[in-house]
Amino acid sequence: MPLTRSEIREMLLARGTEQEEIFARARQAREECFGSTVVLRGVVEVTNVCRVNCDYCPMRRDNTRGNDRYFMSAEEIVSRATRIKDAGIDVILLQGGETPRELSAVEEAIPRIRELFDDRVEILLNLGNMRKAQYARLRETGATSYILKHETSDPALHRKLRHESLEERLRCMRDLLDLGYKVGTGLISDLPGQSLESVVDDIELAGEIGVHMCSVSPFVPAPDTPLQLGAPGSVDLALNVLACLRISYPGLLIPSVSALEKTSAGGQSRGLAAGANVMTVNFTGDSDRHRYLIYGKDRFVVKMRHVEELVRAADLRVRGSVFLDEEAPVVSR
Ligand code: SF4
Repeated sequence: MPLTRSEIREMLLARGTEQEEIFARARQAREECFGSTVVLRGVVEVTNVCRVNCDYCPMRRDNTRGNDRYFMSAEEIVSRATRIKDAGIDVILLQGGETPRELSAVEEAIPRIRELFDDRVEILLNLGNMRKAQYARLRETGATSYILKHETSDPALHRKLRHESLEERLRCMRDLLDLGYKVGTGLISDLPGQSLESVVDDIELAGEIGVHMCSVSPFVPAPDTPLQLGAPGSVDLALNVLACLRISYPGLLIPSVSALEKTSAGGQSRGLAAGANVMTVNFTGDSDRHRYLIYGKDRFVVKMRHVEELVRAADLRVRGSVFLDEEAPVVSR
């Protein structure tokens, strides 16, 4: 049963012992749905060029000229996917700014990656808003799942910080679900101008829209952005959101994101303690990785050893894609 609004509100403010009790409840919900497992993803960041102008992102459109732009070729993407396969990971996340230009390389790479894995692979995309026909084409090419974070469910704040329409974002999510994609959303907590009520809305939205995955990142005031002087988001609030998501919708895949670690050392370990069950390892090549400025040049890059250590310390074990299993856990729909 999803939590009520007043329960969520109360839980978001919890700290100390009360917070620990909520985390224990979230871990129990994870255990019942997924056992003691964490899904590993390998991410390849295919381009750092974006047509959108989010006020919190150094890869925003206004920075394009000053940034050292790159577009990976299909060859490079497949080569990176080979490394992910060698690491024993079967979820390939292809992520990049929102630009139509990289699509041909991605479309060319997807069938080759499927072949590499003998079709036992989840191809997860995070490439922004598109027309339904483009999503359909990627699906036919072999994409399995898609992340399209709503970021904030407050329509006015969404417009103010992303200069885009929330309604259009939600339209894209519905199109993806219609086409049979497993869909992930996500929110940023503590965005400047965001109310606690709006964070409650964000949590409820994940259930209402019927997604399969949801992430939460604390706001990071990144350099070279209009919000660079903002206060960093609270890791405690982000963790409480994570725990509320897990308790309300136990079957969701919820990552412990790098922004938790960037904001506070040990943040990703706390994410696992609050009920997360996904970790993403970065496989972008060295030269491109430094140009993918999601939180600026000094972002926290997640390596395999870091993930293995955290998973072991949390007394969990790694597993592959849940979407390739015949008996995938029931999700929030
Ligand atoms: S957050 Fe994503 S959509 Fe927004 S500017 Fe950055 S890369 Fe583009």
